Amino acid sequence: MRPFAFSRADGAPSAIQAQLAAKETSPNTPSVFAPGQYLAGGTTLIDLMKLDVMRPEAVTDINALENSPSGKIDVSAGGLRLGALVRMAAAADHDDIKKNYPMIAQSLQLAASAQIRNMASLGGNVLQRTRCTYFRDTSYANCNKRKPGSGCAAMDGINRQHAVLGVSDKCIASYPGDFAQALIALDAELEIAGPNGTRRIPFAQLHKAPGDTPHIETTLNRGELITAFNIPPTPFAKRSLYLKVRDRASYEFALASAAVALDLDNGTVRDVRIALGGVAAQPWRAREAEDALRGKKLDDQALNGAALAAFMHARPREHNKFKVELGKRTLVRALRQAAAMEV
Ligand code: FAD
Ligand code: SF4
Repeated sequence: MRPFAFSRADGAPSAIQAQLAAKETSPNTPSVFAPGQYLAGGTTLIDLMKLDVMRPEAVTDINALENSPSGKIDVSAGGLRLGALVRMAAAADHDDIKKNYPMIAQSLQLAASAQIRNMASLGGNVLQRTRCTYFRDTSYANCNKRKPGSGCAAMDGINRQHAVLGVSDKCIASYPGDFAQALIALDAELEIAGPNGTRRIPFAQLHKAPGDTPHIETTLNRGELITAFNIPPTPFAKRSLYLKVRDRASYEFALASAAVALDLDNGTVRDVRIALGGVAAQPWRAREAEDALRGKKLDDQALNGAALAAFMHARPREHNKFKVELGKRTLVRALRQAAAMEV
C-alpha cells in the first residue's frame, strides 16, 4: 500500500474541508479516482488500496458522523430515513424495516458476510466498485475504468460475471451491490453535504452509465459527502422483496437479482416497482417491465411479457449469455413470491 495522509473528521464540515484540500502530489502514480477518499467501514476502500487500484493521497475517517443524524435510522409516517453511517447489519436487522420495507432489509441481509455487514456503512455500500477481475488486478494493462483509453480486457476475456444491460463499447462491468436496487426501486432520495450546503437528488441520478467514461461512476462533486437516504412512504413497500441468485448461497455477489414491489387490486397490478441487480452496469430500474405489468392480471402471460421487456435491450458477451435467461426467471419468481405475500 502506498503512503497517504490520514485525518479524522469530527463532523461533515471538517470532512469536506479535508477532502477539498487533498491534492494529487505524485504525478508518477496518478489514480483516475479522486485523490481524497472518505473512510467509513473501509471494506471497499482498504481492499482497493492494498491492490493498488485506488491510490488516495488523503484519507479522511468519517466514522465520528455515526454520532450525528447520519448514524441514525428514523421510521415515521413521512417515510424511512437511513443515515449514511448506519451499518448494513443495523438496517438489515431493524424490526420496522423488516416489517414495512422488507426489500431493503433483505437486500442488506443477503449481502456480503456478517462481519462485513457489521463494519460496512450504507453510504460506502452504494459507492462500492465493480468486482471485474481485470479492474481489480493491476497486472492487466487494459481497463478503461482504471486507466482511461487503455481498452477493456473483459470484452474478449472471461466475462461470465459481467453486465448485459446498460453496457458500453468501453466497459461491460456489472454494478455489484444489492442495497442500491432496493433504493432505486423505492424512489429513494439522496441527501448530500457539500462545500455550499446540502442538496438532494433522486437516488437514480447518483450512478452514471459507463458510456465513454467508465472511470466516472457517479455524479458526486469533489468533496461531497452522502449523509442520508430518504425513502418516501409508498403503498408498495410492504409487499416488496429482494431475490438474489448467486453461485453459492452465502457470501457471494449476485449473478442476477430482482427487487420488486407490488400494489395489487384483486390480483390486478395497480402499480409495480422493479429493479434488477447482477445483470446491469449500474443500479437498474426496469421501467419497461413495470409498464408491461401495469393494469394486468398477474398471470403467466403478463409475467413472461414483463421478463421479455426487461431484457429486450440486453447485449450479452460470450460467457454471460446465460444471464439473460437467468435474469428473466429471477424476475418472474420474485414477482410470483411478492404476489403471494400476506400483507
Ligand atoms: P468504504 O470502503 O469505507 O468506502 C467505500 C467508498 O465510498 C470509498 O470510495 C469512500 O471514499 C466512499 N464513501 C464512503 N462513505 C461515503 C459517504 N458517506 N459519502 C461519500 N463517499 C463515501 N456488497 C453487496 O452489496 N453485496 C455483496 O454480496 C457483497 N459481498 C461482499 C463480499 C466481500 C468479500 C467484500 C469485501 C465486500 C462485499 N460487498 C458486498 C461490498 C460491501 O458491502 C462494501 O464494501 C461496503 O458496503 C462498503 O462500505 P464501507 O463503509 O466499508 O465503505
Ligand atoms: Fe475495466 Fe470495465 Fe473492462 Fe472490467 S469491464 S476490464 S472494469 S473497462
